[in-house]
Amino acid sequence: MQSRSPIRKCVGCGARRDKIELLRIVNNKSEILVDPGGRTPGRGAYICPNMDCLDKAVANNSLKKALRAEISDEIYQKISEEINHG
Ligand SMILES: [Zn+2]
Repeated sequence: MQSRSPIRKCVGCGARRDKIELLRIVNNKSEILVDPGGRTPGRGAYICPNMDCLDKAVANNSLKKALRAEISDEIYQKISEEINHG
C-alpha cells in the first residue's frame, strides 16, 4: 500500500504524526483560522488535538513562529474549542 498520508510535526510536542491525526491551523492572508478539514490555502501549522500540546505551543511561541503571525487569545480559544468539541 502506498496510500499513506504525509507526516507532519506537531508544533507543541514535536512528535511526527500522520497529517490526518493532527489539527491544522492556517495563516490565510494574515487571518489565522482553525482548519480541521485541511483545505484552506495558506501557511499551515499542525498540532496534536489535545490541550497539552496547545499549552506547549503557547508557552514556547511555536505556533506564532510556524505561522509567522501574532496569535491572539481569541485564536487560542478557537483552537481549544476545536480540540474539546471538534
Ligand atoms: Zn503534539
